[in-house]
Amino acid sequence: MDEVMEIRKAIEELKAADVSQIADKVAATGFKCKRCGKCCSGRFGDNTVTVFPSEIRDIMGATGLDWLDIAVPHESRDFDEEGRCHTFEWALRKKGDGDCIFLEDGRCMIYECRPFICRTYPFRLDIARMEVESYECDGLGSGGMDEASASSMAKALMERAIAEATEAVSLLEKYEPFRPGRPIQGRQPIYIVHDSEGSRKVRIGDDGASFA
Ligand code: SF4
Repeated sequence: MDEVMEIRKAIEELKAADVSQIADKVAATGFKCKRCGKCCSGRFGDNTVTVFPSEIRDIMGATGLDWLDIAVPHESRDFDEEGRCHTFEWALRKKGDGDCIFLEDGRCMIYECRPFICRTYPFRLDIARMEVESYECDGLGSGGMDEASASSMAKALMERAIAEATEAVSLLEKYEPFRPGRPIQGRQPIYIVHDSEGSRKVRIGDDGASFA
């Protein structure tokens, strides 16, 4: 079975999965959000939030910002023969201090349309094992969620996993391979971002980011 067919099969299995079992696993972590904002801040570890094109478009609609005001190509070590950097992800922009650009006075300014990663932090779903995995977070084991909150988190985890798999299918269908190369010393690379909508070239210079 090719990769796309395997992912499509996984999507169908996810759609048929029992949300209540996932909710039980979420509840078993004893997680309760402390509203500390550490996951949005650059002072407590990696706060990178990768985003899908559809999520960027939602934020554009809610804020009036342009694409590159919201997200930039995620760092990658893959270069082609012309020294262009190829990446498969977009990441939310950060401020100079490393905080997410949407963090203001400890609050998320795009709360209603925040990305899946933010909505489901500190969890992710391992779809091969249907297990709930958690990242480091002070809220784990700190009180627990009520049944409705655990169920809501479980649904968000399922939606995120389905969205990730659906994005992967579209990406694989549109992906055009490149010949591996090396970065060109002393030159800012042009980024090629491969995503579910195709590929985009982005130039990042001293004056900011622009589509090339
Ligand atoms: S989008 Fe909102 S929830 Fe997500 S990292 Fe930024 S401030 Fe935090």
